[in-house]
Amino acid sequence: MDNHRIQHKILDLKKQHDAAILVHNYQRPEIQELADYLGDSLDLARRAMMLPQPVIVFCGVHFMAESAAILAPEKTILLPHPDAGCPLADCASPDRVRDARKQHPDAVFIAYINTSAAVKAEVDVVCTSANALRIIKRLSDREICYLPDKNLAAYAAEKLGIRMIPWPGQCYVHDHLIDLETVERLKEQNPGAVVMAHPEASPAVLKTADIVTGTSGMIREAISSRNSHFIVVTERGLVERMRREIPGKTFIPIPTAVCSQMKLTTLETVLDSLQYFQHVISVPGPVAVKARRSLDRMLELSE
Ligand code: SF4
Repeated sequence: MDNHRIQHKILDLKKQHDAAILVHNYQRPEIQELADYLGDSLDLARRAMMLPQPVIVFCGVHFMAESAAILAPEKTILLPHPDAGCPLADCASPDRVRDARKQHPDAVFIAYINTSAAVKAEVDVVCTSANALRIIKRLSDREICYLPDKNLAAYAAEKLGIRMIPWPGQCYVHDHLIDLETVERLKEQNPGAVVMAHPEASPAVLKTADIVTGTSGMIREAISSRNSHFIVVTERGLVERMRREIPGKTFIPIPTAVCSQMKLTTLETVLDSLQYFQHVISVPGPVAVKARRSLDRMLELSE
């Protein structure tokens, strides 16, 4: 079956089941085209809560579907591929957070949204790349442990002039697959292009950037900027969206920046997901209650 036919079948089933399709910015272009809403983790978590549809097909990775299940417990949340996880999220476990809390009893623990529900249940507040600086700043009168992304922590600490308890963890796409030499080569080849980098990139790469921001911030910047050329230092799926939605401007991706876990979601897996109602993501009650508290605190502090 060609892509067009599969997309049609998906849209028919979506209607039949009164489902909504939420899609992360790093998904394949043919999945992005199906989206009722396309966005970053924070946008999608908020959408999951507000949408009237009882079924949500979450085209992203596991922790995102868990956040939707926590915020919208009355809905059925489907993750098309059961192995679509996030190696960065795997850098923190609830046991390790509990141990760290014993070692730093006075610290406030802030978890990046890229963590499991079980980890969110052990911390005080969650944040995303879009609101990390604001939330960390608001809590900076206390000792802070920020987990699990060491690059985002280093960026925030430098920007705010504070120190944080270190946590070893990184996204392999932003930390390993995006290297300084490639960014510098692209800058040489595209003089005058604005370099927009995600704060999960390494400190050396972030030093070369004109703008450091999350994926939604990059889209806003590309729309409002007078510049026409941008080097987009994040997963390449975002560039597909920018090229489609912001015609007339040029977006240069990092060729190697591909998240294999995000790309596990294909049209076939979305079709199966709606056909067989798979894979249902739910979070056990006590964990969901505690994780919800940390997510609600994020929503309050990011106002
Ligand atoms: S791009 Fe990095 S942080 Fe995002 S899902 Fe992939 S591994 Fe996780």
